Amino acid sequence: MFGSILGQERAKEMFARALREQTLSHAYLLSGPEGLAKTAFARELAVTLVSACGGCGVCPECERARRGIHPDLHVLEREGDLIRVAQVEPVIADLRLKPFAAGRRVWVIPEVEYLHQAAANKLLRSIEEPPDLVCFLLVTDRLERVLPTIVSRCQLVEFRPLSDEVVAGYLRESHGFDGVAAEALARLATGSVERAARLAADARGADRRAGYLKQAVALLAGGSGERAADARRAFINVLEQQQAEIATRVQADLDERLAALTRQFQDKRDLTWYAKQAEERAKREQARLRRIAAQDAVDLLGAWVRDLWVVACGASDVLWNCDRAGDLAVAAVATPEYYARLLAVVARTRKDLYLSIDHRLALQALFARFEEVAESA
Ligand SMILES: [Zn+2]
Repeated sequence: MFGSILGQERAKEMFARALREQTLSHAYLLSGPEGLAKTAFARELAVTLVSACGGCGVCPECERARRGIHPDLHVLEREGDLIRVAQVEPVIADLRLKPFAAGRRVWVIPEVEYLHQAAANKLLRSIEEPPDLVCFLLVTDRLERVLPTIVSRCQLVEFRPLSDEVVAGYLRESHGFDGVAAEALARLATGSVERAARLAADARGADRRAGYLKQAVALLAGGSGERAADARRAFINVLEQQQAEIATRVQADLDERLAALTRQFQDKRDLTWYAKQAEERAKREQARLRRIAAQDAVDLLGAWVRDLWVVACGASDVLWNCDRAGDLAVAAVATPEYYARLLAVVARTRKDLYLSIDHRLALQALFARFEEVAESA
């Protein structure tokens, strides 16, 4: 169990003990910052809970559960920007039935903060007084936005950012990075294993980072003339290039999935339903990856400014971009206060992106605010 999940030893031990001692609760809420593989954890746990083998990971039943076609394992994902009443009703109707194959029926609900109030009310009774043999695994990156009535009825499982050492070790072992590169990437991932994996698996990641940093240097060199405007455009171009690659990749994955479904289902209605689910999921996945790419771009810029601040403070031994110490030493020409103001701008943009404000507008606003800081310095 949890062979594919890095770190989170406390959560792993807690569930292992609950299984061993048969003290599993009816509802858990997995909470913590984005990028800690919480949903992957919930899915893997769910496979263990529904499989008669106890989650060996290799038998046909585990395989079915992994692929999302096990009759006792359900994943309730939002449709559009909500998890609606109409989605929850079948869940509740389903709870009256005995599990098909497994001893237990499991519901995984990622992004539970999107649960509509009315849907939550319906679900609450089931969480409060669930029939035996049902387990809810709710997941959120934003605990403060989950309905308090939901939080109070679940056992909270907190996920914590991983240490740089653990992430660097993973990058060395699983992605073949060498010492300095692994360390730099681990620091830039700020404890998020998903982010580290994403940065490491991105074949053009190193070029992209170089591209962003080159424009960041030009942007921060000051001036509001043609050169600065070029740098802003070029920075946005790097992002838009990546987002175009994301669109192509998501479409290719969807085509593959649809072809597999066509082979799998002879029944037209089944096929249509699963195909629609796959398309919806691809749409959400693309939006999510586009947002994450924009966040990564802003985070790279933020990490650079943060390091300039560190150098300006005279503490260059704690750099995140530890493979670019020389460039940073040359570039850090302003005061720590100046860089601190830029960091506040970056933090504000990060929040805008979090709230799904248009990526291009958010970046343009960031550059405009950088210019205001430069003019007032
Ligand atoms: Zn198995």
